[in-house]
Amino acid sequence: MISSAVGLGLARAVPHCTVLSRGRIVLNATDSQRFWNKVYVTANCWLWIGARHEFGYGWFELNGKAQTAHTIAFAECYGPIPTGMNVCHECDNPPCVRPNHLFLGTQQDNLSDMREKNRHQKGETNGHAKLTEQDIETIRQMYSQGTFQRVIAAQYGVHQVTISKIVFAKELAARLIVRHNRA
Ligand SMILES: [Zn+2]
Repeated sequence: MISSAVGLGLARAVPHCTVLSRGRIVLNATDSQRFWNKVYVTANCWLWIGARHEFGYGWFELNGKAQTAHTIAFAECYGPIPTGMNVCHECDNPPCVRPNHLFLGTQQDNLSDMREKNRHQKGETNGHAKLTEQDIETIRQMYSQGTFQRVIAAQYGVHQVTISKIVFAKELAARLIVRHNRA
């Protein structure tokens, strides 16, 4: 069910990555494997399913230092990040690490972008991520079809606990219905 970037053989062959061969690669083979193993590839965004920053960005520990996953993905593909520049999301999906969804902006760009999109208020830790009724229905379907909770969580930019609650509520309801029918 789950396909990681490594599983798809993308660790060293990131699509849309025209400068990969001449760009400086920041990860050695072991780290690269470790990194791309935590990436769940969808038709659109590539979602980080490892540790997450409070704003929903992926965290990756490299040489004893936690770094944002999308920044590493960008550097892996396009080379080192110039000083004073930030890697921003074209797709407005913080856990996404798909190189061609990322672009370089200034810190100011990033802050105004975040303010504009109100991203700082829908981070996973404050639990304000918006899920519609339709989302909840889809989440339950995905789970019942075998998608891992952490994958669903990454896709919707919410904490796994939220997905667990959504799924558990459904299962609890189902159990109650069964009991009721038996009575
Ligand atoms: Zn994306």
